[in-house]
Amino acid sequence: MIEVKFYITTAIPYVNAAPHIGHALEFVQTDAIARYHISLRDDVALVTGADENSLKNVHAAEAKGITTAELCEKNAAVFKEMAEKIGLSFTSFKRTSLKSEHWPGVQRLWELCAKSGDVYKKTYRGLYCVGCESFYEESELPDGLCPEHKKKPEAVEEENYFFRLSRYQADLEELIESGRLKIIPEKRKNEVLSFIHGGLQDFSISRSVKRAKNWGVPVPGDETQIQYVWFDALGTYLTGIGYGTDEKHFEKYWPAEVHVIGKGILRFHAIYWPAILLSAGLKPPKSVFVHGYITVEGQKMSKSLGNIVDPLALIEKYGADVVRYYLLSEVPTFDDGDFSEKRLIEKSNTELAANVGNLVNRTMVFLANNFNGEIPHAELGETEKTFLEAQKKQMELISSHLDELRLKDAMDSTMAFSSNANKFFQDAAPWKSIKEDRAKASASLYVLANQVKDLAILLSVPLPNTSESIFLQLGMEKKAWKDLGVLSLKPGHKTGKPSILFRRLEYKS
Ligand SMILES: [Zn+2]
Repeated sequence: MIEVKFYITTAIPYVNAAPHIGHALEFVQTDAIARYHISLRDDVALVTGADENSLKNVHAAEAKGITTAELCEKNAAVFKEMAEKIGLSFTSFKRTSLKSEHWPGVQRLWELCAKSGDVYKKTYRGLYCVGCESFYEESELPDGLCPEHKKKPEAVEEENYFFRLSRYQADLEELIESGRLKIIPEKRKNEVLSFIHGGLQDFSISRSVKRAKNWGVPVPGDETQIQYVWFDALGTYLTGIGYGTDEKHFEKYWPAEVHVIGKGILRFHAIYWPAILLSAGLKPPKSVFVHGYITVEGQKMSKSLGNIVDPLALIEKYGADVVRYYLLSEVPTFDDGDFSEKRLIEKSNTELAANVGNLVNRTMVFLANNFNGEIPHAELGETEKTFLEAQKKQMELISSHLDELRLKDAMDSTMAFSSNANKFFQDAAPWKSIKEDRAKASASLYVLANQVKDLAILLSVPLPNTSESIFLQLGMEKKAWKDLGVLSLKPGHKTGKPSILFRRLEYKS
């Protein structure tokens, strides 16, 4: 078997504040894609981490009266905890302030761009938003305010290094138009292309040691300058798989199959980043997946409104899978969505418990009560065969959604798969046939047990804990995607003990 590698990343979040539900969305989306490829038996690398070299962190640390290093260490640990608790299957959590791990790679990246003649020094005057860590043109600022932060950017004038982005206009157009770099969804691709068509300006990739408060990755060969935080943060996608420290590992995984990002940082990933890579003689990533933002009960999350949703608290209260389910099934994959705790509870009760939980429990309990927990011998009739054929089509549909990264569609189709199996249970009515026609009841339960097994495989992508619990109840090892549709639970197999997957939740406001 040829081993296929699959490299996916989350954006590398700033750690100046605690993680919110938007970070959780990105982790869960990234993880669902990664787990699909793990189940396909691909060799998966998933890089996440902490973007620590920003001015925001310096300011946040100053406000707290601690060192920037202390702040970063403390906050990065919270992000890492969230990544672990929500089940993000990362292979590397990269902190950009760690000298030995991250700096050699991004300094080399700089040197390669310089060698290509794409790095030059000039005096720059511009409007800088610290929140975005980005310069803006006057024309990009409605009412003179940053569109993301609604704050007036500060005027900055100093000598910086610039990256010759203008040189890559045609290359980038070709790269994106041809689909060699896929921007998903299509509307984001169009957004990027129209920005490129508008003409690309060279951009600053360093700042003075003084303005950076001596925090960040030094520019090779110039001790008066620090790398612009975006330059080094993007480099995490390289250093996370060993660039600058473990070349063999890097060569194995680069280029990335997917960078998962929020819509606010599209330009950095679809324009700046591939241009930097081309300049350095490295391959561009294959795709950029762009998700939207999350409002809370219809309002934008903000400190002043006090409505920031802490994913760790949610996981503590409801468990990771209920939170994952909400983010994958309620939030549109490529658009903005809303979070409401009441809705989360409603969905857990009416969808997870009443559909998935019900199917698994009624099947397991019926097997335990009527077949001593053993998979029965069965002759399949037309009814069973037709049903299995239809469910096979349903599983193919789920695979095609996942291949195209349509996560909500995949989640919805997985729930439909479970509903279909529940309907089969209802129509077969084994509680009746067990008394009148035991062979018929055996055929129904043989099919249903194998459906539960298929559901466990399907759920290993969105709801890994639930999947694990189902395999445990079935008394079998975890199965991979290729086992879908295979009647691998054989007559005579002894199942495990039935247990409740989702308890009924009450809403307390
Ligand atoms: Zn801003």
